[in-house]
Amino acid sequence: MKLVVNAWELDPEFKYEIASTPGGEHIMRCFQCSTCTASCPVAEIVPSYNPRKIIRMSLLGMKNEVLSSDEIWICAICQMCTERCPQDVRISDVMGAIRQIAEKEAERGNVEIRSVRPVFEKAFMRQIEKYGRLYEIGLSMEYYKNVHRGLILAMMELKKDFAKLGMRLYKKGKMGVKSMLPERIKRTDEVKKIFESIGD
Ligand code: SF4
Ligand code: SF4
Repeated sequence: MKLVVNAWELDPEFKYEIASTPGGEHIMRCFQCSTCTASCPVAEIVPSYNPRKIIRMSLLGMKNEVLSSDEIWICAICQMCTERCPQDVRISDVMGAIRQIAEKEAERGNVEIRSVRPVFEKAFMRQIEKYGRLYEIGLSMEYYKNVHRGLILAMMELKKDFAKLGMRLYKKGKMGVKSMLPERIKRTDEVKKIFESIGD
């Protein structure tokens, strides 16, 4: 994270862009008390993670630094900060808005996203869209395929990471043939309609 801020590199519109993105509406209420960072369980484990600082940088207009930061993908959406923030900034929602902007800018080639979280989230939502519920094997396959750019590599990684665990679960009767196959809920069409109404 850079220590010197060049005024000419700042984007004063960035905070308005966040505020007009769903979830980001309250960003400008922040008065930098740091209650969020002091309450954050993730910050205890990852000392560099500082939600107050991300909000400050966003308000300053450090668009490129914020959007290309790995830290905007770390929030676990536990809502501890939202409960305690005296200004009702709703930080996890603000982070969601910032992530949405980061994904759009990445599609335009303006920033690079190194985190695998968006790949996981897309794979997760695809399972819900297809089956109306989570199909964990489908989620793993899609996630690994996209992260490792191909099915064969994905299978090798899956085998390495989960073969032993899968066998243990199988032996204890926690995983059977039934759980290997996707199970659709009855009203999958209605779930599809929700996804269509949201769009990409
Ligand atoms: S707790 Fe709320 S007001 Fe305080 S720094 Fe965090 S977001 Fe800003
Ligand atoms: S919602 Fe995110 S930023 Fe807020 S306390 Fe939880 S992990 Fe930290």
